[in-house]
Amino acid sequence: MAFEDLLEDPVIQKYLHELVGPTGMPVAAAPPDGEVTDEELAEELDLELNDVRRALFILYENDLASYRRLRDEDSGWLTYLWTFEYENIPENLQEEMYRLHDALRKRQEYERNHEFYLCEICSIRFEFGEAMDFGFECPECGSPLDSMDNGRLVTAMDERIDALAEELNVDADA
Ligand SMILES: [Zn+2]
Repeated sequence: MAFEDLLEDPVIQKYLHELVGPTGMPVAAAPPDGEVTDEELAEELDLELNDVRRALFILYENDLASYRRLRDEDSGWLTYLWTFEYENIPENLQEEMYRLHDALRKRQEYERNHEFYLCEICSIRFEFGEAMDFGFECPECGSPLDSMDNGRLVTAMDERIDALAEELNVDADA
């Protein structure tokens, strides 16, 4: 098996699992050295060919596998020879973390800049303007809407943003 060091990292295992799902995980978790066909993988891992192909295609879409086609001169059949390219994983993961960092900061800004009202019966949250339009009564059940403090959510987001920023080595306030 190739890329053993990378695959020991639980973060990378989780990343692959999220990409290919539980049925594709046997494929993603055991990249062979060199080229392999989908049929060889299916036989070796005792999996349905379609599941193997699906996992390979997801890896391909994420730049983690490539293939070349060979045509059998006699039968005309195409064979796909796959190569796993897990050397791209660290870069992919970093991009993902940048995206998450960005999304969290935008989300946090939204939370900071809006006031919210809650129906405790239905657990539905409304922005101030919506709550006002409904006369501060829940449109579902008619209960009064209560002003909601989202300070704890904002603080929790702070912690995640800081942790990501530290991992990415970026300035949290940049
Ligand atoms: Zn309600």
